[in-house]
Amino acid sequence: MSKMDNLVSLCKRRGFIFPGSDVYGGFAGTWDFGPLGVMLKKNLTDLWWNFWVEKRDNIFGVDAAILMNPRTWVASGHVDTFADPLVECKECHGRFRADKLADGLSESVSTDEFLALHVKCPTCGKENWGEIRKFNMMFSTHVGAVLPDDLSDESSKALVKKSTAYLRPETAQGIFTNYKNVVDTFYPDLPFGLAQVGKAFRNEISPRDFILRDRECSQMEIEYFVHPKTWETEFETLLKETHTFLTEKVGLKATDLRDEEVAKEDRAHYSDRTVDIMFNYPNGEEELMGIAYRTDFDLQNISRESGKSMEYRDKTTNEVLTPHVIEPSVGVERLLLAVLATAYAEEPVEGKPGETRTVLKLPEALAPYKFCVSPLLKNKPDLVKKAQEVYVKLKEKYTFVTWDDSGNIGKRYRKQDEIGTPKCIVIDFDTLEDNTVTVRDRDTASQVRVKISEL
Ligand SMILES: [Zn+2]
Repeated sequence: MSKMDNLVSLCKRRGFIFPGSDVYGGFAGTWDFGPLGVMLKKNLTDLWWNFWVEKRDNIFGVDAAILMNPRTWVASGHVDTFADPLVECKECHGRFRADKLADGLSESVSTDEFLALHVKCPTCGKENWGEIRKFNMMFSTHVGAVLPDDLSDESSKALVKKSTAYLRPETAQGIFTNYKNVVDTFYPDLPFGLAQVGKAFRNEISPRDFILRDRECSQMEIEYFVHPKTWETEFETLLKETHTFLTEKVGLKATDLRDEEVAKEDRAHYSDRTVDIMFNYPNGEEELMGIAYRTDFDLQNISRESGKSMEYRDKTTNEVLTPHVIEPSVGVERLLLAVLATAYAEEPVEGKPGETRTVLKLPEALAPYKFCVSPLLKNKPDLVKKAQEVYVKLKEKYTFVTWDDSGNIGKRYRKQDEIGTPKCIVIDFDTLEDNTVTVRDRDTASQVRVKISEL
């Protein structure tokens, strides 16, 4: 099995991540988080929020509605341009993203360019392609009392069209549309940022690679509003801080990360600089996140579509300007997969030749549980009672503490290794004598005796 297969299997076996709607045979591009996955994901988003919002003085949170006025997506360009190149095999009618069927193709690949490569259909192996069409990736829905019958009736078709809304394809627009609210009520000085964590939806043509490319995901985005004259230095600072966050807080290895300066022809037309931070995933290098300088593109679009001024008046200089924006944007699941891939290890068990253990070496801040408490033997009431006392005490102090008295001690260690619990605390007969416990370290498997009072 590949490392990715092992990760998927571990995530399911231990209750981190299940295929979406598993009981009905799944639902492509969706994943459900189980008890441990919820904890890991929450720890990750909390860490991000703490680093970017709570610990700083100039980035503030917003939490916008997922359903937004459809004009949002006209102004942002998503209605016209948020599309992937779709190509259909005329033999088996399989539909694919053309730019993913061969190396080195961009999203703007033309039919001629694609046909010249003589790609075979991944499903039926034939080569008989239709024209490349643009497929808009937004999920649309209807807001209000619209009946399915309305589509057959000419006069109702207008109602249907008018009621069309979209599940947001990014959290960014929920930030931009609140920029004016925040400026008018909160009066932040430039530069300042607005941060949001929330769900986003993209109707990916071919969801793949576990949680890397899914149809429903969570994003953590910051729109950082700056004076146009300072964007270059602010960009450098945000890029540097992003790397600090990824390596020092999240625990990714610097050697797995690579900054890719996106070439002018591949950048969005309004962007003067975009850096994609690439990560060495088990199935190959993929984009982990991006930092884009978006100029005043979004605020100008909103201003034009809404007829409202997005200008900002500097309190000291009285200068009136439209701020420019730098956007660090990361998908929660993409980051989570990078965390899992970094933490996953298979190692020989010391003293037991031929045996291996699977261990998730998660940073302590991310581990679902910080401690596991267990009695050496579950059929000795004195040990169980003492262990319960220690468990209650630690749970009060550290919250994220689990109890395990299943199987033998070796099996418990294997399980806690697999779910990334940094320390296992075992209460044995010596504990009853001298109030010390065995503390076993997840990464080194070494054990030390510690006084209960010092835990
Ligand atoms: Zn085919």
